[in-house]
Amino acid sequence: MPRTPEYFERCKWVLVFSHSDCLSHATPAGHPERADRLHAVERGLADLSVTRRDCPMGDEADVLRCHPLTYLERVKAKLPDEGMAMLDGDTFLSPGSLRAAMRAVGGACAAVDAVLSGEASRAFVACRPPGHHAETAQAMGFCLFGTVAIAAKRALDHHGLSRVAIVDFDVHHGNGTQDLLWEEGRCLFASSHQMPLYPGSGSAVEKGAHGQIVNVPLREGSGGAAMRAAYQAQVFPQLEAWQPELLLISAGFDAHADDPLAGLEWQAEDFGWLTRELVQRSGGRVVSVLEGGYDLDALAKSVAAHVDALKE
Ligand SMILES: [Zn+2]
Repeated sequence: MPRTPEYFERCKWVLVFSHSDCLSHATPAGHPERADRLHAVERGLADLSVTRRDCPMGDEADVLRCHPLTYLERVKAKLPDEGMAMLDGDTFLSPGSLRAAMRAVGGACAAVDAVLSGEASRAFVACRPPGHHAETAQAMGFCLFGTVAIAAKRALDHHGLSRVAIVDFDVHHGNGTQDLLWEEGRCLFASSHQMPLYPGSGSAVEKGAHGQIVNVPLREGSGGAAMRAAYQAQVFPQLEAWQPELLLISAGFDAHADDPLAGLEWQAEDFGWLTRELVQRSGGRVVSVLEGGYDLDALAKSVAAHVDALKE
C-alpha cells in the first residue's frame, strides 16, 4: 500500500468489532461476567473516534486450530434450549452462548484480517464471553474458546506470519492461552497477573516448550508503579527482541483498584500507559481483545484509556 497521507490517516483508525449477539450470553443473577459489561464498554468508547464493524460469525476451522472437534461438539451438545447449563463451577451456557462466543472468535479473526490487510493498523474486539482461561478441552473461568490464541493461530497458519506476540494484562493468569500455545514456538506469550489468585498457574518458572512464555506474577495490593517496573524489566525487553509482526493484547481490566474479583491497585491511566508502551513495541499492527473487568465504571474508564492509547 503506498505511504500516502491517506495511508497514515487510516493508520490512526481504530476498528472496533462488536455484535449484539454477545449480549445474549446469559449468566446467573449476581454473576460478575454479565451483559452489562458490554454496555459499560460502549460508555467508555462513546467519546472516542473509532470505526465500527460488526463481528462476523466465527469459522469452526479457526476454533479447531486450538480445540479438538470433540470439545466443540461437547459444547454444542450441552447448549440448553432454555435456562442454563454448567460447564464448570463458574462457566455457564445459555441458549445464546455459542453464538456469542463464535462472534467473539469471528471478531478477533476479522480484526486480524483487517490489520494484516492494511485496512487499519489497530483494532479492539469488544465481545464476551472472554477467552483466556479456556484450555484445549476444558471451558473454565467464564471462557468457552481461547479467542486470542485462535486469533494468533489465524495470523500464523492462515496468513503465514512467523512472529506473533500476545500480551495478557488481565489480573488473572491466561492459563488457557498458555495451554493452547505451550508448544507454539512462533508466538511469544507474556502474561502479568496477581499471584496467588485464580486460576493458580502462571509462576515465572512456566516458560513454554520453546522458552517463549513469560509469566510475571504481581503481589496483591501492588499498583501502577510496580506494574510499570515489572513490564520494563521482564516484558518490554522480550517484546523488543521478538520484533513481532503482529501484537495481540488480552485486554482484561480487572487489575483496576475498584474491581471486585482481585486485589491489584491499577488506575485507568495505568492501562493507558501500558497500552502506549506496548504499541511502541508492536511493530505497528495491534489487535486487542476484551477479557475481564467487572466493576462497570472502572471498566468504562479503563477501556476509554486503553482504546485512546491504541491510536498512538
Ligand atoms: Zn480476569
